[in-house]
Amino acid sequence: MRTRALMYHDVVAGEDWESSGFPGPWSQYYKFNEAEFDQHLRAISGAWRGAAPAGGEPRDGALQITFDDGGVGARPAAAALEALGWRGYFFITTGRIGTAGFLDAAGLRELAAAGHCIGSHSVTHPTRMATLSPAELREEWKRSTETLAEILGQPAPVASVPGGYYSTEVARAAAEAGIRWLYNSEPVETVDEVDGCRILGRYAIHRGHTAGDAAAYAAGQSWICWRTRFWWDSKKLIKRAGPFYMAIARRLRQ
Ligand SMILES: [Zn+2]
Repeated sequence: MRTRALMYHDVVAGEDWESSGFPGPWSQYYKFNEAEFDQHLRAISGAWRGAAPAGGEPRDGALQITFDDGGVGARPAAAALEALGWRGYFFITTGRIGTAGFLDAAGLRELAAAGHCIGSHSVTHPTRMATLSPAELREEWKRSTETLAEILGQPAPVASVPGGYYSTEVARAAAEAGIRWLYNSEPVETVDEVDGCRILGRYAIHRGHTAGDAAAYAAGQSWICWRTRFWWDSKKLIKRAGPFYMAIARRLRQ
């Protein structure tokens, strides 16, 4: 199975960056305004040749447009998708539901009723998910999926890892909580499986990306996909090298 997924966050009106999702410059790096997001969708629809992006269980060969955090900017994002006949995946930080800048329960039900997929993004959005203990990981996934099931009246078996801090332990705890599809932030299209939970990668779209870049990710097999994967693999390699990091960095600069 192969899937291609794009990871967005909040879509806001004008320059009102703090109106949706988590505050601060780091979060803002992942936010787009409505006009920019419309441009991205137009470019993506021009480049994508497959079936219309849909909600529901991720399917082989599909393109998925995903949104992390659960900010109120999900509303304009969903409306823009619906105008194209598309649906998306919205991953919700359940501890923030109904707080300033985040969707409330009624908002989540509206998105689900319109055909979008609603999934977990943990309860508290831990800064470094992979460093939590197995018991803490289980709590994050179990409590967040229970909250969503209660609000939506049906199980929520799809989730995404906060901050992209993925590990096999994160996936194991998700599988234990009944999550069957877990998105992380690895720029890959191949699908792994851990304890019956499928692990799917995503291309992260941030303010450094143009609409053309987003379209190139959607089209796949393009230079930007290869470049992103190359940098991701290099970073992993450098992290693993640990104490040799400086030596490697010096060699790379020569
Ligand atoms: Zn997040």
